[in-house]
Amino acid sequence: MLLYNTSSHRKETFVPQNKEQVTMYCCGPTVYNYAHIGNLRTYIFEDLLARTIRLKYPLKHVMNVTDVGHLVSDADDGEDKMEVGAAREGKSAWDIAKFYEEKFWQDYDALHCTRPTVISRATAHIAEMIALVKTLEEKGYTYRTADGIYYDTSKFDRYDALVGHARIEGLQGGARVEMSDEKRHPTDFALWKFSPKDKKRQMEWDSPWGVGFPGWHIECSAMAMKYLGHTLDIHCGGIDHVTIHHTNEIAQSEAATGQKYVNYWVHGEFLILRSGKMSKSGGTFVTVQTLREKGYDPLAYRYLCLTAHYRTQLEFSYESLDSAAKSLKNLRQLAWQAKKQTTGLPLASEAVQDWQEKFVAAMEDDLNAPRALALTWEVLRSSLQPAEKLAFVQFADGLLSLDLLQEPKEEKVELPSQVAALLEQRAQARQNKDWQKSDQLRDQIAALGYVVKDTPQGQQTEKK
Ligand code: AMP
Ligand code: ZN
Repeated sequence: MLLYNTSSHRKETFVPQNKEQVTMYCCGPTVYNYAHIGNLRTYIFEDLLARTIRLKYPLKHVMNVTDVGHLVSDADDGEDKMEVGAAREGKSAWDIAKFYEEKFWQDYDALHCTRPTVISRATAHIAEMIALVKTLEEKGYTYRTADGIYYDTSKFDRYDALVGHARIEGLQGGARVEMSDEKRHPTDFALWKFSPKDKKRQMEWDSPWGVGFPGWHIECSAMAMKYLGHTLDIHCGGIDHVTIHHTNEIAQSEAATGQKYVNYWVHGEFLILRSGKMSKSGGTFVTVQTLREKGYDPLAYRYLCLTAHYRTQLEFSYESLDSAAKSLKNLRQLAWQAKKQTTGLPLASEAVQDWQEKFVAAMEDDLNAPRALALTWEVLRSSLQPAEKLAFVQFADGLLSLDLLQEPKEEKVELPSQVAALLEQRAQARQNKDWQKSDQLRDQIAALGYVVKDTPQGQQTEKK
């Protein structure tokens, strides 16, 4: 299997340390709000990676849940996202974490991402984090300021290993302006933050340095090494984590253990919107729930993600989601026909095995899901026998996980309320034989993106 390794900037042959158990850590959600579909794109790519690895090796897949310590700003000031969420919703920080974590798993499951082998909550691993900070302190990598214990990045000479020296210098230049007086270098970061003196935090713990809470980066290092050992085979996350979060994870972990932290760093590119970043205020914060409310099957979004390679940016639009939904429907239709026309058992003939090999080769070529998807179309449109097609789809869907063998159902279109109201007016107009008004309303409905057909059963509507 070939995997693009961020630290070497090239595709490498994946060689696990131990074939009996591949180890993979994925940065998980910060549970102070709903996950947006951009976050979920990253989990979908990680799921594809997990499923592909499992074709050959047993996999131990660990994911953290950040339920404390992720500050709003990367510069180690600003508030903890959990406490911000609590203040926003008038709930306790613990309730916020519980609520949004539950929502997160619901969305994760709806997109058919396989649950990790271990789910580790930050708040349940404070002792491990304190132990790691203590080791770093003993080894001379830390210093104390008024607001916490910091990691001295100048003491770790491979600090630029993941991103290159130029990027680190750029980062330092940018950070210098905002640097607090006591931070020795712009790239230094908090390992342990003290609770503010004038305010009681909801989430805080005792430590050898005083009451406070852990820094976000130390969480991942402590939990990853607890469950997977000092050297992990694979560490994943979104591309935004390369420069700071993962760079800091390497610095902490390798300074503490003296060993290489991660053999393969695998990062997924962003889902972007034409209008820029997803934001709550701009109404561009799209969640799985938003998609459901608009009548989409969440798996149409999974399909959309599979049409782009994980290392390319994917621009989200409802037009592209519509076309993904249509393609998924057609692909399921083909798969269903093969199933219905199969009288005996699925037939994994030699031809099918050849196709399966091509499919696996695509996935093992740095997760080329678009090619694997194209092969699936090719097989279903080929002249293979239905029983052979069925055998192939059963195999391919083990990776794609698009419910390809789901019985096609009559689609119920969830109409936006404005369209529904216009349809009602149009039905009335037609009853009154006011054809001019009826046509006018048809145009208005068309302007909202829906086509109306008049059938003996009444008006039928579908999306254009
Ligand atoms: P967070 O909950 O903010 O820590 O993010 C969870 C995961 O989503 C991380 O791996 C991020 O790198 C990733 N992520 C954040 N925004 C996007 C986006 N727009 N597209 C893809 N992945 C993202
Ligand atoms: Zn992390």
